[in-house]
Amino acid sequence: MIVFDLLCAVGHRFEGWFGSAEDFASQKQRKLLACPACGSVEVERVPSASRMNLGAVEPKPPKKPETPGKTPDMEGKDPFAIAQMLYSRMLDELLTKSEDVGKEFPAEARPRPGDRAGARRAGRRGNPGGPVSRAARPA
Ligand SMILES: [Zn+2]
Repeated sequence: MIVFDLLCAVGHRFEGWFGSAEDFASQKQRKLLACPACGSVEVERVPSASRMNLGAVEPKPPKKPETPGKTPDMEGKDPFAIAQMLYSRMLDELLTKSEDVGKEFPAEARPRPGDRAGARRAGRRGNPGGPVSRAARPA
C-alpha cells in the first residue's frame, strides 16, 4: 500500500491509501477520489515529506537544476508526473539500447569451443531478466 498526500481544488489536504501509483491514477480518472471535506473530485497528489514509497519509480528532487534528464516540459509539474516521465523515458532507452538478436539468439548465446567472448555473452544472457536487466547495469 502507498499513502498519497492529496490536495483538492479548494485546498483541503488529506490522505489516500492506494495499492499502487496506477491504482491512484485509475481512481482519479474515474473520479472515485473525492475530497472528504468538500466532495470535490478535482484532486491532485502532492509530495509527502516522509512517507513517499514509490519503489523503483522514486522521483528525483524536482527543484535541482542539475537533475539529469530534466527538461523544460517538466517545469511546474509535480514530482509524481516527473517520475512518470523519467520512468517512461528510461523504459524507452532500455528498449532502444537493448540488443535484439532475434532468431540468432541460440547461435549468439551458445559458447563456442575456444571462444571466450561467446562464453561471456552466454553468461550475461543466461539470466531471466534478459536484455533489459543487462542494459540496466552500467557497462
Ligand atoms: Zn476539499
